[in-house]
Amino acid sequence: MREDELKKQSAIPEVPRLGRSDSFRFCCNPSLVCFMHCCQDVSIILTPYDVLRLKRTLRLDSTEFLAQCTISAFTRQEKTPIVMLKMDPESRKCPFVTPEGCRVHASRPWACRMYPLGLADPERPTASEPRFYFLVREDFCQGHAGGQELTVSEWLTEQGVEQYEMMGAAFKDLMLHPFWRSDQSLSPQQARMCFMALYDLDRFRRFIFESSFLERFEVDEARVEALRTDDVELLDFGTQWLRFSLFREKALKIRSSFRENKMQPVSPGE
Ligand code: SF4
Ligand code: SF4
Repeated sequence: MREDELKKQSAIPEVPRLGRSDSFRFCCNPSLVCFMHCCQDVSIILTPYDVLRLKRTLRLDSTEFLAQCTISAFTRQEKTPIVMLKMDPESRKCPFVTPEGCRVHASRPWACRMYPLGLADPERPTASEPRFYFLVREDFCQGHAGGQELTVSEWLTEQGVEQYEMMGAAFKDLMLHPFWRSDQSLSPQQARMCFMALYDLDRFRRFIFESSFLERFEVDEARVEALRTDDVELLDFGTQWLRFSLFREKALKIRSSFRENKMQPVSPGE
């Protein structure tokens, strides 16, 4: 077996693998002594759709939400901005946990919905390296001791995971681009574009409508109207803009009046 294949296999958790029709028992409710113990001292990476849902539920502008409730890092290794939920610096608790439960339960992030299921998701699943689920067992969590038996598929539906996966499909596809596995890195300006178009949606909206953006790109009127108010449409559009700007894909169309000029990607700060 080749060395790179061995490395790939050793990265896969050594735990029983679950498919969507496999079942497990789990019970989580306020009567358990561990209630909400899982909501502290935890690293929760937020997807763009997580940020969209949370800022809407909290009625915050995305810039305010990101500043108040998240930390973001940009490392050479990861190449792309990572946004994480900011735990309270003293108690290490999630900002949304209360004695009664999660105050953003209806918009809780994908990672919180999945727990206690983990997902091993190869970039290109194959028969020999398939996508699979596994149970995360932590000593403090009493939920494995009982409860109703559910299949993985039933759990994902009950927790609303499928909608999150559907809304995250374009982002996942963007992250599968060969660029991220290459030796290339984003410039600081490109990193700012990524952060804005994926996470700071209200700022991205202002950028579209308050810069020369719409003079440069052909966007049909119905879509322009949707971009004014619809965050899901805006996120989808942002992903297309990044594909155009970072990878030179024909995801957006330049207006003919700009075609003959030496086209520079329009970017925040212009
Ligand atoms: S059962 Fe597990 S998931 Fe539920 S509250 Fe307790 S620690 Fe958290
Ligand atoms: S968002 Fe809700 S479920 Fe997730 S860690 Fe915070 S309080 Fe817990």
